[in-house]
Amino acid sequence: MKPTDPAITWLEEKPLGLAERLYLPLFVQGLAITARHMVSRKVTVNYPEVRPTVGNPLIYRGVHRLNRDDAGRVKCVACFLCATACPAHCIDIVAAESPWPDREKYPESFAIDELRCIFCGMCEEACPVDAIELTSLLDLTGKSREEMVFDKEKLLSVYDMTKDAEPMKSKTLAAQGMATIGHGGGAGHGHATGGHA
Ligand code: SF4
Ligand code: SF4
Repeated sequence: MKPTDPAITWLEEKPLGLAERLYLPLFVQGLAITARHMVSRKVTVNYPEVRPTVGNPLIYRGVHRLNRDDAGRVKCVACFLCATACPAHCIDIVAAESPWPDREKYPESFAIDELRCIFCGMCEEACPVDAIELTSLLDLTGKSREEMVFDKEKLLSVYDMTKDAEPMKSKTLAAQGMATIGHGGGAGHGHATGGHA
């Protein structure tokens, strides 16, 4: 039954024309698409024998890493902004007083549950010191749930593994004359609070 409310626009279904009722033009159209895909450039690869390449590592959101500063220390200042921004609540940080004089806090422990992560990149956007980044590593496998919780050492080891092929995004973007989105600069120490994220 048609609605009587004038605010509702009722659309009548368009009757099928002769060509549509015959299905032949649509059949030919479908064959044409299949033929076009048969001769177009292949984008599938025989993974894992062949590794797929990531188009632009700057925007790809793969396995996380925790960056190191010039002195080789974890860059993170335990401000909790990434954990606060994370919609999946998969970042757990325990802050402690920093053993170094140039910052107030550092993460005594830092863990990301990669199984809960939805790879949205919000943590990367939220970090004021470019300490957390998503890399172009797409292999994310493990034999247990525990193995998929990446702790600080593992996240730092991802940095060590990827830093040559993928320099820090902020440096790459700065070299290209582009600013990083959402990175306000500054240490952001004032927001830090102790305890668990
Ligand atoms: S990528 Fe998104 S879901 Fe994953 S840890 Fe970062 S903020 Fe959380
Ligand atoms: S936002 Fe950056 S500095 Fe702050 S806790 Fe997360 S990784 Fe560390």
